[in-house]
Amino acid sequence: MRVVGLVSLSGGQGKTTSAFFLGLALAVRGLRVLWVDLDPQANLTFYAGLTVERGREVGAVLRRQCEVADAIYATEWERLFIVPSGGALQQAANEYLASVGGGGLVLRRRFVAVQDWFDVAIVDVPPARSPLVVAGAGAATDVLIPVECNVKGANCLAETVNFLQELEEAGVFGGRILGILPFRLKVFGSYLSRDSQEALQFFQGFGLKQFPALVESERVKVCLRSGEALPPGLGDCFSAIAKELGDGSY
Ligand code: ATP
Ligand code: MG
Repeated sequence: MRVVGLVSLSGGQGKTTSAFFLGLALAVRGLRVLWVDLDPQANLTFYAGLTVERGREVGAVLRRQCEVADAIYATEWERLFIVPSGGALQQAANEYLASVGGGGLVLRRRFVAVQDWFDVAIVDVPPARSPLVVAGAGAATDVLIPVECNVKGANCLAETVNFLQELEEAGVFGGRILGILPFRLKVFGSYLSRDSQEALQFFQGFGLKQFPALVESERVKVCLRSGEALPPGLGDCFSAIAKELGDGSY
């Protein structure tokens, strides 16, 4: 099982949006996909339309109060499953991970039990450094970094790459950075906003693969709420990432 971590340390950079549409794109390509919602904000769990039963969520799995197999729910989409967030309860998982030695490796260990059931797990993490984010990165074989096409996104990218390097040095992150997904690119007709242009140029300086951008669009929000895949054009970035993952070996 490949484990794709959506890691980006600032808020609103497109982690949950990318986790959602990448999941749909991979399932459409015939892969069995497991979403893992590590974020106490529980947005991915919400977009998946899930009602979570107490004690059957990722926080309980991390704290060894529930087997991972018992915390997997089917969704309305074929081949797509989710281990949901326990919402506010997840803070207890943060404290647990901080208090046990090697908290960064806990998620990876817990998911070994189901690694043959899925082709890809997609882990959505909260913003800002925390034991949950470290555990998400620690489980990842591949990290995708979504960043907004503006100054905040540029700063966030620098901080996130630095964070992953630290985790690599500490022996927690052993995966690869799959690439950068430029988020909310502002296009006016055939022109890019100045902010977007400058941000893309800055992103290139990191020498990482840059996927096609997700363009700023109300349509994306509508699809998030209704659970529809993005139309061709808008969804090209997720097809490109799915292709890159789907063509790799497991
Ligand atoms: P957090 O760090 O709070 O978890 P995040 O990194 O997961 O945030 P998202 O929730 O994916 O970021 O996206 C931030 C906001 O941008 C959401 O409200 C989402 O509806 C909106 N959004 C997503 N895609 C687009 C788009 N293409 N154009 C405009 N808005 C978008
Ligand atoms: Mg999010």
